[in-house]
Amino acid sequence: MFFYDPTFMLLIPVMILAFYAQSKVKGNYQKYLKVRNNSGKTGEEVARYILDKNNLNDIAILPIDGTLSDHYDPQKRELHLSNDVFYGDSISSVSIAAHETGHALQHSKKYLPLILRNQIVPVASFGSSAAFPLFLVGLFFGMPFLMDLGIIFFSAALIFHLVTLPVEFDASHRALVELKDSFLIENNQMKGARAVLNAAALTYIAATLMALVQLIRLLVLRGSRD
Ligand SMILES: [Zn+2]
Repeated sequence: MFFYDPTFMLLIPVMILAFYAQSKVKGNYQKYLKVRNNSGKTGEEVARYILDKNNLNDIAILPIDGTLSDHYDPQKRELHLSNDVFYGDSISSVSIAAHETGHALQHSKKYLPLILRNQIVPVASFGSSAAFPLFLVGLFFGMPFLMDLGIIFFSAALIFHLVTLPVEFDASHRALVELKDSFLIENNQMKGARAVLNAAALTYIAATLMALVQLIRLLVLRGSRD
């Protein structure tokens, strides 16, 4: 949405934050990818340890291509770790591996925000791709109904971002507790683990704020057409 209106100014700080968060994620990830964790365990070993300790022996851990492509697949109940995380014994590797096991723990414990998020995914992904076309067609052809529909669809995308926040924060919290309590990394290396995971959390905050600002802009544009 690149129309100029008074709310355009709101986009600038949010874009700066998003850019800052992205570079922080990459920077911290690369920095701590070079630091070997003092347990010498790989990401895969740490993930296996945490899963087994929580009676999740049946969850498979598989290496996948890509950088920061790590995720937990709730349908297949599989942990997919990127090669640097799976095979690596760095602070970044074990922190991200532990974060992904955090999602598997949420799933097994039926953590409400995760369940909600999984149910919202199809609606939100359809909503976010349909929202702008609907709104723009409504705007240019003077059809308020379509603009309202676009706003409703975009709200679904914002709800998805909002529900993602507790899911991601909680997964990182569980990761840090597991790493600390099981002595998977020593205290003097916890700072690095926190830096890697907090930077990732910041990207989710930036994405949520971006969606919020976009929605405000749609509402302002809609209001000016009454
Ligand atoms: Zn996550």
